[in-house]
Amino acid sequence: MNGSDLISPAQNTWCPGCGNFGIQHMIKAAIAEITGEGFPRERIVMVTGIGCHGKIADYFNINTYYAIHGRAIPVAAGIKVANPDLKVICHVGDGDAYAEGLDHLVFAAKRNADITVIVHDNRVYGLTTGQYTPTSPAGFKGRSTPEGVPEHPINPLELMLASGATHIARGYSRRLQPMKQAFLEGMRHRGFSFIEILQICATYFNLTDYYNDHVYDLAEGDIDTGDYESALATIREWDYSADAPIALGTFYRVGRPTFEENFPARKEGMEDREGLIRDFLQGHR
Ligand code: SF4
Ligand code: MG
Repeated sequence: MNGSDLISPAQNTWCPGCGNFGIQHMIKAAIAEITGEGFPRERIVMVTGIGCHGKIADYFNINTYYAIHGRAIPVAAGIKVANPDLKVICHVGDGDAYAEGLDHLVFAAKRNADITVIVHDNRVYGLTTGQYTPTSPAGFKGRSTPEGVPEHPINPLELMLASGATHIARGYSRRLQPMKQAFLEGMRHRGFSFIEILQICATYFNLTDYYNDHVYDLAEGDIDTGDYESALATIREWDYSADAPIALGTFYRVGRPTFEENFPARKEGMEDREGLIRDFLQGHR
């Protein structure tokens, strides 16, 4: 199989210049690499929320599931519990994950659900034409904030570190190969993997020049990815002030038992998983 087999014939309706193209290209490359190593394509599931990012479900020729707004993460976690043999990738937007679905994001990290969450963080609601989100910068003038956003943005990586995520990384939609590496690391990590992608919205909030001037790649020795304090210090380096540097790469990675391993039914013996599900359903008729 090559990467082009993974793309569906659906017409692509993202705007020209949208950062979603880069994300799609690199998740395709990462999936092609994993399937090329022998992991069956039919055991990969892509779950998406609602928003411009969610169209990625239409563009892939693999198992996909469109969840409702803000609810992609519990769907992904539930799929993984029901069938731990699957590799579950969950694409969400910043409105999806940090506003409507914030509680789900926090609890999936807390539980160490073995899923890979990829946030297309364009710092705006693109599909609904430009309202502010929890990561829009103070002063952002969008459709719902013509006078400028009066609040400061949240730092999602810091939130994920505090919530218990066992793998935390950041990429940028115009840095393709590092993004592929981030996706591969996330998919190979056993536990909750959080990957924030700074995604260009070419139409409603184009931050290309700003990111190009401020991002840098974490190098070997810049950070101890197994140390909470080291990760926190580097995560806080970008305080959303105009001149602060923005680190890209892996900030944190530790091992911890996953939600699926600790799930009561699994502890009782998941060998007959289908039987357990059948008994459960019959008991609730
Ligand atoms: Fe991409 Fe923004 Fe267009 Fe949505 S509105 S497709 S995020 S460029
Ligand atoms: Mg968005």
